[in-house]
Amino acid sequence: MSFARRIIVTGGAGFIGSHLCERLLARGQEVLCVDNFFTGRRQNVVPMIGNPMFELMRHDVTFPLYVECDEIYNLACPASPVHYQFDPVQTTKTSVHGAINMLGLAKRTKAKILQASTSEVYGDPTVHPQVESYNGNVNPLGPRACYDEGKRCAETLFFDYFRQHRLRIKVARIFNTYGPRMLPNDGRVVSNFIVQAIKNDSITIYGEGQQTRSFCYVDDLVDGFTRLMDTGDDITGPINLGNPVENTILELAEAVIRLSKSKSKLIYKPLPEDDPTRRRPDISRAKAQLNWAPSVPLDEGLSRTIAYFRALLA
Ligand code: NAD
Ligand code: UDP
Repeated sequence: MSFARRIIVTGGAGFIGSHLCERLLARGQEVLCVDNFFTGRRQNVVPMIGNPMFELMRHDVTFPLYVECDEIYNLACPASPVHYQFDPVQTTKTSVHGAINMLGLAKRTKAKILQASTSEVYGDPTVHPQVESYNGNVNPLGPRACYDEGKRCAETLFFDYFRQHRLRIKVARIFNTYGPRMLPNDGRVVSNFIVQAIKNDSITIYGEGQQTRSFCYVDDLVDGFTRLMDTGDDITGPINLGNPVENTILELAEAVIRLSKSKSKLIYKPLPEDDPTRRRPDISRAKAQLNWAPSVPLDEGLSRTIAYFRALLA
């Protein structure tokens, strides 16, 4: 199979973005990584910097970008609730102005463009598991709205550019993804629990820990991304990408303690406002259209992530 040549990855110095850049380089593609380093780190891309097929550009996607390209993966946006709520106005701008700028770039260059959307477009879902046809239950006024509504508006823009300008679009709705290169102070549950377990600190369960999430290992997610980008123009999404195995947050804490042989105890903290009660993707569409399903079980993915954080914190 021959792949498109010049690829832009916005948010390419972040957690998922840096894994994606590596995967694209391994396929022989040229990668322009565009990032403003808000939550991304140069260390994430250092191993790629000597590669002549890799280029790193500091740029904020809320400003227009003039480069040539064949494909765009638009990942720029903080993903952890702690980080996206730090400057909510900038979060919405990043999703909305970022989408407009990248769609404009795709229009001018006739590039294919993939949006990293999110399960948060379903809000606190009343349909379970979540299917792509479900329109969601988002509070437009709450602390998560800057992210949820920003991502929803970005999806709207993608489909309007598709209808109005015949752009070649792909929209992926990503469910909780974890793995090496998450930031230790990121605030998301997997990195929090692993860092706490390694240090034998108390594990902070928000609420009673009965809320659920479905955790996808980053390699599986990146595989879904490239499969979606490689589809023909008739496949636009939205398409759920995530692991359909659902766990309570308490089960996750117990797994992390067991796998890291930690002496940590559990402590309970207040549940953040608008925290979704349950979340699990229906991945029938991804199976049918991409022949994709995650292959890394939670215990294995957690073990790899624990090994990464042990080395990082040593
Ligand atoms: P991350 O925070 O590690 O990566 C986001 C990257 O975007 C960072 O490198 C950051 O510096 C960059 N960025 C932020 N604002 C920018 C701007 N204005 N201009 C340029 N760069 C900017 O998070 P991640 O987990 O790798 O998430 C990547 C994408 O996937 C995000 O769009 C996120 O919404 C989406 N997503 C992730 C998950 C998940 O569980 N990890 C779930 C759903 C959706
Ligand atoms: N959570 C927790 N303890 C933590 C961090 C998060 O119990 O130290 C919970 C959080 O309340 C949520 C779930 O874990 O119910 C997932 O949180 P995360 O911030 O990873 O992402 P979300 O899926 O909520 O966007």
